[in-house]
Amino acid sequence: MKKILVPIKMVLDANVRPRVKADGSGVDLSGMKLSINPFCEIAIEEAVRLKEKGLAEEVVAISIGPAKAQDILRQAMAMGADRARLIETDRPIEPLTAAKLIRTVVEEENPDLVILGKQAVDDDCNQTGQMLAALLDWPQATFASAVAVDAGTLHVTREVDGGHQTLALPLPAVVTTDLRLNEPRHCSLPNIMKARKKALDITPVANCGLDLAARLNVLGVKPPEPRKTGRRVANVSELVGDLRAAGVI
Ligand code: AMP
Repeated sequence: MKKILVPIKMVLDANVRPRVKADGSGVDLSGMKLSINPFCEIAIEEAVRLKEKGLAEEVVAISIGPAKAQDILRQAMAMGADRARLIETDRPIEPLTAAKLIRTVVEEENPDLVILGKQAVDDDCNQTGQMLAALLDWPQATFASAVAVDAGTLHVTREVDGGHQTLALPLPAVVTTDLRLNEPRHCSLPNIMKARKKALDITPVANCGLDLAARLNVLGVKPPEPRKTGRRVANVSELVGDLRAAGVI
């Protein structure tokens, strides 16, 4: 393979408790720690491993988001991506728009493989990879838990109900990552320093010539109901008695 493209999204850090905006219009990100979406980190790791095995020549990371998303692109380069591209916008981007924007980059870059996260943990959409494959009319393998390349064919193992399914795909193809695909590496200080010198190309979203109008209307966002505190019971019969009293059994 000559090139792997890896779209990565910046999201609220998974260890931070989300705070809903006072007007209920969304999650408040101001002053919050933002990080690379965990499934995207797995996607970068997988692409870099394929390159390290000599199965790919170049890994390009791409993000659609605000100027701050340069931080996650630098992280991707510290993990081993060769260069990065930011399509800069401050607007929220829906999966279909993300897929269309990634398609414009695919048309410019001609990668053999696009590896995305299976979902971004902010909106939990799980749509962009599938939509991108449909727009490109490329084969897709979602929820990958193992990826191998053999004589120009991609073999992807997927966790499905009751076992594993292995697909063979001709390239070019789209793959989305599941949690067990790999464990992303930590970036060493020398690699963080090296990543600062790698190329990061920034394109304003307006230059992509796409209609960015929202098709989804978010009616409201509410924090989850606070959980009731639990009670420790002394033994199983007390537990069963409590469950009966609550009408659960
Ligand atoms: P989603 O369909 O929103 O759950 O996102 C699935 C995957 O699509 C993510 O893990 C990323 O690989 C990619 N993706 C979604 N939104 C963006 C974005 N704004 N920039 C780059 N990649 C994205």
